[in-house]
Amino acid sequence: MASVTLKNIKKSYGNVEVLRGIDLAIDDREFIMFIGPSGCGKSTLLRMIAGLETITHGDLLINEQRVNDQSPAQRDIAMVFQDYALYPHMTVRQNMAFALEERKTARSEINERVTNAAKMLRIEALLDRKPKALSGGQRQRVAMGRAMVRNPKVFLFDEPLSNLDAKLRIDVRAEIKDLAKRLQTTMIFVTHDQVEAMTMADRIVILNEGVIQQVGTPEMLYEHPANLFVATFIGAPTMNLFKVTLAEDSGHLVACTSQGDRLIVSSEHADQLRQRLGQTLTMGLRPEHVGESTEQSVATLNVRLSLVEPLGSDTYVYFETGTGRAVGRVSPQCKPRIGDNMHLDLHMQHAHWFDQYGSALAMQS
Ligand code: ADP
Repeated sequence: MASVTLKNIKKSYGNVEVLRGIDLAIDDREFIMFIGPSGCGKSTLLRMIAGLETITHGDLLINEQRVNDQSPAQRDIAMVFQDYALYPHMTVRQNMAFALEERKTARSEINERVTNAAKMLRIEALLDRKPKALSGGQRQRVAMGRAMVRNPKVFLFDEPLSNLDAKLRIDVRAEIKDLAKRLQTTMIFVTHDQVEAMTMADRIVILNEGVIQQVGTPEMLYEHPANLFVATFIGAPTMNLFKVTLAEDSGHLVACTSQGDRLIVSSEHADQLRQRLGQTLTMGLRPEHVGESTEQSVATLNVRLSLVEPLGSDTYVYFETGTGRAVGRVSPQCKPRIGDNMHLDLHMQHAHWFDQYGSALAMQS
């Protein structure tokens, strides 16, 4: 059980600063995901918490105690690596027992911990096999077991699902989430996969170029992204963005697109946006808020479909906006086809608004 606190943590390699002042408080027993594009610094951050990288600047606290200068073993943290790093010449049992043997833990205690971990991970039947006789998913579980037997204060995971095929990833995702609940230990997990982060985390820390962009629950990041980076990183298909200029038209505030569409801003947002009359903003709408139009629609686009993706439950329809590609979600019953003209309804009450710097404008709703 442990809290982990990062205070103005920086990391440089030579002259290159790859982490630029990270402040973060992780609660005891929280499941935290670090997410961001390749090269944003998430693995470096994780490795600094583990003690595998030195900290250039700032303080790292575990349970309020500064641990910058402690070795990985002293920090009492266990890490599960992307490639699992199992010893190929040892059986599963030996792999799991190894760290405890190094620490001269009593044999009976080792046996008990290995048995318990194997039971929790449902790998009891595999204990006498060597890693090469295991599937990817089984190896992944053994790597987890090896971390679990140490009863660490904190678990760190460095993209542990990236070597698994898509279906197995979904299963293991659910297993790890379930395990996290049962183990009641602080967990920090690195991934570049936003679906993994959305489905598993209590809170997500989203990084770009060594800077935290936003910290929050999956719902918060999805519904209230702080900036364009978060808005477009979280959610698949990506949020649609429209460059619009605000104008007044017959008493309504309207968002004018570069293609001449005039979209009535919803009353929920109009009061706050009216002070920006004449300004050019970015309006974001998630695909589920762009659907087939009805007689009640007040903000519609007449589009020509450039791509149609039927998924069974929903169909995604893509179209060009003049500034890029956009996507809506329609019912499969309307059976759209590439090249069709379609009236799409923009659910303007769900629009996100960003200023010229890409920062979200907070809307009262
Ligand atoms: P991520 O895990 O988000 O993909 P990393 O933390 O691995 O990113 O890397 C962050 C940045 O630091 C990258 O630009 C990477 O090239 C750089 N970097 C990582 N390790 C080293 C190193 N040992 N020496 C120099 N640069 C490094």
